[in-house]
Amino acid sequence: MALAQTLEQFLRKRGTYTSGLPESITAYRALRKGVRAMTEFIWKQPIYGLLAGAALMTACAASPQAETPTVNSPPAAGASGASAPVNAPSLAPFTASGNTSMDTWRQDFASRAVANGRDPAVVHATLASISPLDLYLSDDVGVARTGIEDQAEFAKPIWDYVSSAVTSDRKSRGAQKMSELAATFDRIEAVYGVNREAVTAIWAMETNLGSYIGNFDAANTLANMAVEGRRQRFAESELLALMKMQERGDVTREQLVSGWAGAMGHTQFMPSTFLAYAVDFDDDGRKDLWNSPADALASAANYLRASGYQKDVPWGVEILAPAGFDWSLADGEDRRLTTWTSYGLSPMGGGAFDAPETAYAELWLPTGATGPKYLLFQNFDVYKTYNRSDSYAFSVGLLTDGVAGKSGPVAVWPTELELLTRRDIMVLQDNLNRLGYDAGAVDGIAGRGTKGALRRFQKATGIVPADGYPTTVALDQVLAAS
Ligand code: CA
Repeated sequence: MALAQTLEQFLRKRGTYTSGLPESITAYRALRKGVRAMTEFIWKQPIYGLLAGAALMTACAASPQAETPTVNSPPAAGASGASAPVNAPSLAPFTASGNTSMDTWRQDFASRAVANGRDPAVVHATLASISPLDLYLSDDVGVARTGIEDQAEFAKPIWDYVSSAVTSDRKSRGAQKMSELAATFDRIEAVYGVNREAVTAIWAMETNLGSYIGNFDAANTLANMAVEGRRQRFAESELLALMKMQERGDVTREQLVSGWAGAMGHTQFMPSTFLAYAVDFDDDGRKDLWNSPADALASAANYLRASGYQKDVPWGVEILAPAGFDWSLADGEDRRLTTWTSYGLSPMGGGAFDAPETAYAELWLPTGATGPKYLLFQNFDVYKTYNRSDSYAFSVGLLTDGVAGKSGPVAVWPTELELLTRRDIMVLQDNLNRLGYDAGAVDGIAGRGTKGALRRFQKATGIVPADGYPTTVALDQVLAAS
């Protein structure tokens, strides 16, 4: 597993993905299968299994305080019987999951969890029923699609993402929920200082206002993530949090329903977020984010407050700019609102900005110099603590306005622009890096690092507008300079 990851990173760093993506994927897939086959072969050898198993577990141990690895008796070929007990006498044996890597990881992790102070009975209950999910553990790279690069916000044009996230149905139902739960929201605003529109917008984005909270078992999905390997440390720490939630009596094992990445309830809390921020707001003695909107919404407000939410300050305001405006000022830097107004920016809706003059804002161009343009205030970054993509936070922002009856953006999306494919973006990144403009990893994702590098290239070579927006025209310009 670790070897395959290393190879993937190696290929990406080398830029082999740029010059031969299909070849790289074929090689990666072959190696990944090879490692699996080798592992399975080794496990089937009675003597070598013990030695190699110990070596593998040492190599894969995520925690520095991991105990000396213990090893299962290697299963006979095709055996599906119970695994042998480990050196944690209070931990009952597990029934095989049908996946050797999963069983190996579980035995090791369960021992470490108990050594970490988790209750052996809770550890066992949490991990007893795990089983391999294709989503994480398929041999087919095309099926196992859990990488950040596959998430919709990085794959779709932003106008597609926004139109599927910010629907008139969500706006009207959100407004209706705010009215139904007015008394609860009054208390939430008083206690946490977070506007109801913001909480409702998060609720709408996360679970379509509670209508879809997922149907995965949180423990199982996190266990699969751990075995898959790329986010093993994260998944294990969330599993430990899941165990603590049960030990505290906050939840029962059966309650732990989640989305595909382990987030739970109406407002999709990860276990560690639950431990830190979940509250019992309807005073029934339980923090029930699955069945109690009051608990879930107050918990989300508690989290937003802790992330720096500013009450009654907008998340963002669509702007107009004077002709000839220097779009390279959309450089991610926060400037005072008074600075922006002195440069001639004004709200699209007319009048003055509905924010304190002392507020700081960033100029953001979701699709470059053509299309909607925004000043973003601190609450935009607070939304991004929920999900780090700009498209996500932007959609939450538009829903925040939408449930209050405001629509936007006013400017038209430049859907006629020819956007780059992931492979094009890799070529762009690679060439920007070669030209000395640091675009970061060659990963095919046009994030802020890539856009910043493109903007600096445009500025240095006198291209106007220097908006950093990666179009086919921009790619041609970079290639011409390479
Ligand atoms: Ca409750």
